[in-house]
Amino acid sequence: MAKTFVFKFGGASIKDANSIINLSKILHNRLRNHTVIVVSAMGKTTNALEVIISKKMDMKEYSSNITILKNYHLDICQTIFPENHPIFPTLENQFLKLSNALDYSLSKENYDEFYDSIICFGELVASRIVHEYLCLKNIFCLWQDARDLIETNEDFRFAKVNWEKSKKNIKKQLLPKLEQFPVLTQGFISGAASGKTTTLGREGSDFTAAILAACLGAASVTIWKDVPGVLNADPKRFEKTVKFDELDYREAAELTYYGASVIHPKTIKPLANQNIPLFVKSFLDPDAAGTKIHGVKQPNTVPCIVVKDQQILVSFKVTDFTFISEAHLHQIYGELEKLKLRVNLLQTSAISISLVMDNQIFKLEKLTEKLKAVYEIKYNSGLQLLTIKNHNAALVKEILGEQPLLLEQITRATFQAVIQPSAQ
Ligand code: ASP
Ligand code: MG
Repeated sequence: MAKTFVFKFGGASIKDANSIINLSKILHNRLRNHTVIVVSAMGKTTNALEVIISKKMDMKEYSSNITILKNYHLDICQTIFPENHPIFPTLENQFLKLSNALDYSLSKENYDEFYDSIICFGELVASRIVHEYLCLKNIFCLWQDARDLIETNEDFRFAKVNWEKSKKNIKKQLLPKLEQFPVLTQGFISGAASGKTTTLGREGSDFTAAILAACLGAASVTIWKDVPGVLNADPKRFEKTVKFDELDYREAAELTYYGASVIHPKTIKPLANQNIPLFVKSFLDPDAAGTKIHGVKQPNTVPCIVVKDQQILVSFKVTDFTFISEAHLHQIYGELEKLKLRVNLLQTSAISISLVMDNQIFKLEKLTEKLKAVYEIKYNSGLQLLTIKNHNAALVKEILGEQPLLLEQITRATFQAVIQPSAQ
């Protein structure tokens, strides 16, 4: 059987009319029958939908936000499609569906489920537009609803993949299509057995590409980005960066764990398990080599700098004059697991436990509620978690200067610090 290739295009690669034209040029010479194209929502659409959801939650008016979002998509379509093209009624239809979905009642209890039922429209609309545009340019491909392929449990917003079921769906629904045509589908969105929409976590389209590739036993995955490949630091934050020509799966996974946003953290594992190479390439310079992530024996020694924003530092202080023990850690981690809160850094002292986590305010309230009888809980928000892999003293000094640190942790390979960014 012919090998399959998976291409993933993120929001930045389809953010405006020119970007979509550019995407079609990239695909023009590279598309074969056995290619799956995964697209996420256009530009900052997902953020815009999040604003609409939170306005709905706060019972504020959001109709102007929908109009702006609709016009954003409409403007792009008016630039790249001829008048009277079927994309225009499709767009109307999608936005009508979005408005209807927003009419459902929303409460704290069904928040995550409601979120997924709304947030999926970014990908649904984008995939319709890109699909129609490719066909218009004689790059024929089929449109596929990813929710019928990737089956998950009902952990809305952070759904867990049912690999067995997904594999079956993909074999049954995707493979026969791929024999005939390339297939275009959405990243990030998935479906539960009940038929409800679920999602794989923000920026999850890379993970979608990896799931499809793993289930298809693909030859490779290519993620098209606005950077030349995987760099040792975010070029938006640091002047001097180094691009990796190749990187070991493990190393790449570690960087994503610390917060490197170039690839979604869950992307690597399914690919590494099957030895499927992952290429990270620039959609601005598609012929350049980019970075190949695969099994590399030689460890990387170049320092890598990762900054994670919007962190909270929560400290739990025991109030009954005992010392911190395994039981305390067990108790706190048990609650964190129930709330699906992930710890990015942990430090313990004689009488307190400090955790650094992504800011999820609802969940923090729930956590405090559960544990306030046992601990005195305090937290600081709006922090940055800095990680330097392969650190050296000069580099740490150069990056931090004299800034005061709220917390610091050093191992032989890794330096981590929590910083209050306003002090920078
Ligand atoms: N559109 C989704 C997000 O912005 C998924 C993705 O971009 O991968 O989070
Ligand atoms: Mg996105």
